[in-house]
Amino acid sequence: MCGIVAYLGNKEAASILINGLRRLEYRGYDSAGIAIMNNRSIETAREVGKIRNLEDALAGSFPAGTIGIGHTRWATHGEPSKDNAHPHTDCDGNIAVIHNGIIENYSILKKALIKNGHTFKSETDTEIIAHLIEELYDGNFEQAFRQALLQLEGTFGLVIITKHDPEKMYIARKGSPIVIGVGENEFFVASDVTPLIPHTRNVFYLDDDEMAVISHTGIITKTIYNMPTEKTVEKVNFDIDDIDKAGYDHYMLKEIFEQPKTIMDAMRGRLIREEGLVKLGGLAEVEDLLMNAEKIYITASGTSWHAALIG
Ligand code: GLU
Repeated sequence: MCGIVAYLGNKEAASILINGLRRLEYRGYDSAGIAIMNNRSIETAREVGKIRNLEDALAGSFPAGTIGIGHTRWATHGEPSKDNAHPHTDCDGNIAVIHNGIIENYSILKKALIKNGHTFKSETDTEIIAHLIEELYDGNFEQAFRQALLQLEGTFGLVIITKHDPEKMYIARKGSPIVIGVGENEFFVASDVTPLIPHTRNVFYLDDDEMAVISHTGIITKTIYNMPTEKTVEKVNFDIDDIDKAGYDHYMLKEIFEQPKTIMDAMRGRLIREEGLVKLGGLAEVEDLLMNAEKIYITASGTSWHAALIG
């Protein structure tokens, strides 16, 4: 589960997003991308590797626009590649989505969407979200967005911009954190508070099964079942350094005490509690191959070597 940052306000979004993505680099990632809304058109840039590569590709000319979304990806479905990097779009390029998490029923949904004529450009689970909303859209974007969320199984923290509703940003959460920062005539969204701190200290967190619609005039929150929710804006009282070290004297101490959360984050969406099973979505597609393999080589070093020994 990797990094999300989004902006809606009066400033140029691209540099805010790139700086925000930098603040999320500590989480690790394999590719990065942004999408910016400008006059009902969406400009997208994506690159494999470091955020520097994305900046180099943009060669100093960031897409113009004051609404945008940015993502650092840690691949779960589909190899790390430019095509698989977020944001992902629907067939007509009207909807751009960034997503943290895993859509467990993506292959069933994908098959149905392909049958209905949708063409996919990536191997990700994420891309189905854009196509599903496209399929359900009949003039009311919020409704299509909400109906799509109801069909998604698994985990998601996601942000969407769309030409159908170019002055707004659509956000939702289920099992993958989303925090919203409230500035002066501007709003920020991120997967953790770190990218928000340079801009605002007023934040609130979305709950599971909750969505938000942000426009220049404010934020509406509701459950994905269409019940309005009340949010209280909290003040973040620490500095960037404190956040980086989360109040501990040393990074190593912080990492030791973060283990329960880190393990929870790594397992989220990969355990089916009711059935007491482990489900590794990325392996499902090659299950038959693996079952019939005569030998499996696991290549690893350090911590992953210890994990590999158990494997
Ligand atoms: N499952 C998505 C993908 O593979 C999102 C991964 C992430 O959380 O970065 O693209």
